[in-house]
Amino acid sequence: MQVAGGAITRVEQGLQATPGKVIDASGMYVLPGAIDVHVHSRDPGFPEKEDFASLTEAAAAGGVTVVLDMPNTVPAVDGAGVLESKAALARSMARVDFGLWGLIRSTTTSNQLEDMAAAGAVGFKAYLAYSFSLSRKQVLYSPGVDDPDLEPPADYGTLARLAPAVARLGLPLAVHAEDPAVLAAFGRPLAAYQDLLDSRPAEGESVAVSAAAAVARESGAHLHIAHLSSAIGLQAAEDARRAGTTLTLETCPQFLLLTADDYDRVGTAMKMLPPIRTAADRDALVDGLRRGVIGIVSTDHAPHTDEEKSRSLEEAPAGSPGVQTLYLSCLQLAKNLGDAWLAPRWVCEAPARLAGLDRSKGAIAPGFDADLVIVDPRRKTRVTPRLMKSRQRHGAMEGQEFDFAIEQVFLRGERVDGAKKARGRMARPARIA
Ligand SMILES: [Zn+2]
Repeated sequence: MQVAGGAITRVEQGLQATPGKVIDASGMYVLPGAIDVHVHSRDPGFPEKEDFASLTEAAAAGGVTVVLDMPNTVPAVDGAGVLESKAALARSMARVDFGLWGLIRSTTTSNQLEDMAAAGAVGFKAYLAYSFSLSRKQVLYSPGVDDPDLEPPADYGTLARLAPAVARLGLPLAVHAEDPAVLAAFGRPLAAYQDLLDSRPAEGESVAVSAAAAVARESGAHLHIAHLSSAIGLQAAEDARRAGTTLTLETCPQFLLLTADDYDRVGTAMKMLPPIRTAADRDALVDGLRRGVIGIVSTDHAPHTDEEKSRSLEEAPAGSPGVQTLYLSCLQLAKNLGDAWLAPRWVCEAPARLAGLDRSKGAIAPGFDADLVIVDPRRKTRVTPRLMKSRQRHGAMEGQEFDFAIEQVFLRGERVDGAKKARGRMARPARIA
């Protein structure tokens, strides 16, 4: 392979070495950089949990060369102005490229969606069970709280109202699919891990997937289900697709590699929403990935401080870092399924299509950005706090062992693993004229 000016220029056997730097990758895998379509930078808002520098250092160390950041930073990205100022902040710190999701509130208008699309949003995200604090400009999980400061969550009516505009813009509509009515019926104090499972039942996911798919169907809007976590959620998505909804699915390594039984070992580091469920759910999701029904693996990277995460199950905030172990997890899962080379489909090709970046990223081909990862398939990696670049060092994946090691990571031909320079650019969907 030959690289010049940050792009891949030739991909063929037996290329003569031309003047310039030669990297010997004998015995290694050379893979496209991964695109994590679902991360939470915490920046702006809570940089003590994570900022764009620590997020993208973790990404670079793990072979992720594009992160798509969710809009629930503070202030939330609910308009073009906020999106542009967040982009400027990210640009000043990012070690890898980044894209930004825009937020759908229950009061969002189609004009606001158009403005966010023009400012470069990769898509829109709606949180069905999360209200919006008008004074704090923040997305909050606050079920059943009657407070004039809290704008009600985006609901199926919001999605139905905005789906035609989303379809017109050609961008994905990502949904945090947990139905608020189901969650409200099952809420309870969290004394043991089973309480977390009981308070966020899988029916919350299947109901939300079905209803969101039903309201998106007629307009042809592209519905994207974030962090799919359950067997019945997957079933609902397959039914919806058969009924004609344009629908993509993402799940996460923690749902594919862990189960509720890991709680005794991992503790509150694995508290997240939706929760890590049963072995039957894990097996259904792995099978969905194997069958190609689930196309994308993302991380829902959502760090807090280790101090916050060391609180009780009730008090600890939900979320875990994950971006650094995305590629290794997927290589391992793919190897377990018989072919490690499946991994780039889940973390490169399908994510690039979702984000409209598939003309420049997600593949190794002439003309594409030289975002490359060299992986050693003979060296193992064990996930330890010392290895982690995120502010939160104890995550859900701690203790996992993978049969691979990330050797070198390049963004547009430049080494970025271990780099302290802000070289990241904003990635904008190419389909927007
Ligand atoms: Zn998330």
